[in-house]
Amino acid sequence: MKKYCFVIDVARCENCNNCFLSCKDEHCGNDWPGYSLSQPLHGQRWINISRKERGQFPLIDVAYLPRPCMHCDDAPCIEAAQNGAVYKREDGIVLIDPEKAKGQKNIVEACPYGSIWWNEEEQIPQKCTFCAHLLDQGWKLPRCVQVCPTGALTIQKLGDAELEKLIASENLERLDSSGSGAKPRVFYKNLHRFNSCMIAGSVATGTGDNTECAVGATVKLFQDGNILLEQQTDDFGDFKFDKLDDNIGGLEIEILFDGKSVRKEIGSFDQSIFPGTIWI
Ligand code: SF4
Ligand code: SF4
Repeated sequence: MKKYCFVIDVARCENCNNCFLSCKDEHCGNDWPGYSLSQPLHGQRWINISRKERGQFPLIDVAYLPRPCMHCDDAPCIEAAQNGAVYKREDGIVLIDPEKAKGQKNIVEACPYGSIWWNEEEQIPQKCTFCAHLLDQGWKLPRCVQVCPTGALTIQKLGDAELEKLIASENLERLDSSGSGAKPRVFYKNLHRFNSCMIAGSVATGTGDNTECAVGATVKLFQDGNILLEQQTDDFGDFKFDKLDDNIGGLEIEILFDGKSVRKEIGSFDQSIFPGTIWI
């Protein structure tokens, strides 16, 4: 049986919030019998966009991470629910039955991703339904995917082998849920924009009024004397080493340009940094 999953490209999300607004438009004031009760206008974010800023002025990278329910294969919310109030359909979609789940506030805390919201008025837990009511009517896409203007949000319906192939070919990753083992069915591309560090800097040359960007300078990143990465500066004299782990030490940068070389010690760092303009 093929199952649905989200494939979300962090590099394409521009934080326009169309997904969030379309989810509100689809679900606020609308009961979808058999699927969900109306989403409250305020206080619930069935698709929630997290923001991450890396680096320091002037070389900053800002990334956005849309987070719907992960529709986990081993969903802790299903485990926590009584009377089968949360269940997984054969097509992979996890739904909360609003009638059976009435009063079961513990379901909210069971989600390791914070994807379930409590409706105080109705006394029910609520979350993203993958817009199952639309898919079951023959619509090809959930509302949020329909309206995403950059193609950051997509869905796939795949067998297990096809999914593994896609994960490998597109370098997809699941969100870390601190070892919950929930096996989410939301896969992210370019997740390094969110969960890795970078060292971004500039190289300039010359003195006094006669200074310019060092275009095409070779920049080498060393750790404990061993070369880790190497690249050339761009047309603005900038470089960026990305996808670095945090908490690594013994770092040093060497710049080679126009027959000259200079070294700058970085030491250790636990977040993305801008080591300033390096003069050569
Ligand atoms: Fe359940 Fe949370 Fe997983 Fe969604 S993300 S299926 S609410 S455990
Ligand atoms: Fe909202 Fe539907 Fe998108 Fe889920 S799939 S976040 S319910 S619009």
